Amino acid sequence: MEWGIINKENFKDIYEIPIKRWDPLSTVKITSEDFGLRGERPRYYGHYSYISPIRGQRPKGFKTIEEEKEFFDCSTEILTKYHDVFSSITEGKLMYDEGGMPIGDGHTMIITQDEIRRDNPFSEKPHQIEKIPDANKALTLINRYPSMARIVDPDIEKEVREKLPPHLKLSKGINLVTISRHFYPSLCFNLIPEDALSGIFLSMKAAILYCIEEAIEKDYYDIPVMPFFNIGRKVGGSQPRLHSQTYIDLNMDGHGLRLEGYLEAFKEMGENCHLCQTTHGNTDRIILKTEFWTFYTTGSPVRNYHIRLHPNEHIRRFSQLKINQIEDLAHSLKIIFQALDDINIDKNRNILFNSCPFGYDAKFHMFADIIPHETIGGLELLEDMRVARKLPHIAAKEIRESLEKYLK
Ligand SMILES: [Zn+2]
Repeated sequence: MEWGIINKENFKDIYEIPIKRWDPLSTVKITSEDFGLRGERPRYYGHYSYISPIRGQRPKGFKTIEEEKEFFDCSTEILTKYHDVFSSITEGKLMYDEGGMPIGDGHTMIITQDEIRRDNPFSEKPHQIEKIPDANKALTLINRYPSMARIVDPDIEKEVREKLPPHLKLSKGINLVTISRHFYPSLCFNLIPEDALSGIFLSMKAAILYCIEEAIEKDYYDIPVMPFFNIGRKVGGSQPRLHSQTYIDLNMDGHGLRLEGYLEAFKEMGENCHLCQTTHGNTDRIILKTEFWTFYTTGSPVRNYHIRLHPNEHIRRFSQLKINQIEDLAHSLKIIFQALDDINIDKNRNILFNSCPFGYDAKFHMFADIIPHETIGGLELLEDMRVARKLPHIAAKEIRESLEKYLK
């Protein structure tokens, strides 16, 4: 069931397909008309899980602790000698690991090459690899080991619907992975050129728009889109190359508890958008304000040194970002990540983009979170809360002082 394809050839058992399950103890039916169209289907918000056995078959990016340590060093040596699972795709020929085994099988599905549309997001045929020009910056691919099924044979879908217990459902959607054309270790922002980073954002944006257009063509609506980066193994990054992922949920059954909180909060603000008006604690929590973006430490951190960022323009989605906003974002992220490295903040970090789902007529100001890795305790799992030790305005001061030398 690689690439999210379920057909008569590969279907074996109803429990080998990706499943979505809403937790009955934290799931509520959406009754408001604000968030999305009101179709026939019941829609929910709450806690849900994607359960996908194929995720366990992903290739491991790091084979040894020593190998992983090398990546932490961020010396330029690492740029040339390393072959990863994506090398065969970017180089257009099978690459081999140290044991002489081919890495991958020479097939892929490319949704966008930089911003250029390639394979249809609902294409059923992985194709042979081909050399990607050196000048390209990024590729957005269909994730080979997804949490959602993209294409399902109609007979199998019917059978699954009949056989699965009613509280489980076949999970449908598109999982994208965007990689840099050339190899850059994700933990080393000092080695990553700004145009490689903005290339990734541009390719993600073009791929999201392509997927949504094609999904709407297939009568999907009310679509949550979740772009994110897992930078480093401790925060879920299984591959050493700089890459992002995007989850496009096509189940048309609602959204998660946290997004519900954001949607309700923006609804309550009405015309007085908090992000358009706040001074972020009389500016003492602001780390960097550019023409296009504001970066600050949130007053209610999820981890110590939790940074939040938003475009100064009131837009609702990642896919509405314009070229100058994207280029500025790449530059700002690069220097902020370097400033965090300089004061020894854990290099394992997530970047999470919060957007209004497609089809929702909701008020929303798109924003993102940078969350450095930290071990959390049980209380944080008991509630949507965090016991932090670092005062956010002091964290901001430390980062600001560290950042100063990178500001022209
Ligand atoms: Zn706003």
